[in-house]
Amino acid sequence: MIKILIAEDNAVNRELLCELLKLRGYTVSEACDGEEALRMVEQSQPDILLLDIGMPLLDGFAVVRQIRENPRWASLPVVAVTAYAMQGDRERILDSKFDGYLSKPVNARALAEELERLLGKREDRCVPPNQPHEGQTSGKTQAAGNGK
Ligand code: MN
Repeated sequence: MIKILIAEDNAVNRELLCELLKLRGYTVSEACDGEEALRMVEQSQPDILLLDIGMPLLDGFAVVRQIRENPRWASLPVVAVTAYAMQGDRERILDSKFDGYLSKPVNARALAEELERLLGKREDRCVPPNQPHEGQTSGKTQAAGNGK
């Protein structure tokens, strides 16, 4: 079961994200500000954090910085969710310690693709690569070696 934590101060946006994720079968927990986001990371132990940038108490940049300072959470995938459309903000997000970026209003397909990308990365680390098939001969025929 995949657990996703939504940290977002806007109730409408939070509800929308929550519905989209539940429809896809994810378990969802929620936080309404930056401090609650940090508490909920500990409490709900999410597989992925969707983190709004503009939030009371601590903004998304401060939250992701604190998460990265904790060895337990240093590798938690964190996706920035933001309406900031300015070029500089997008670059600032990508330069920060986020693993991904979604712009608001969040598009259901973009959300699904981002989650699959991050979860796929995680599964790559657990599943060994396919072994080559033993004993398989090459497809070459020996037409040249008939030597009549
Ligand atoms: Mn916000």
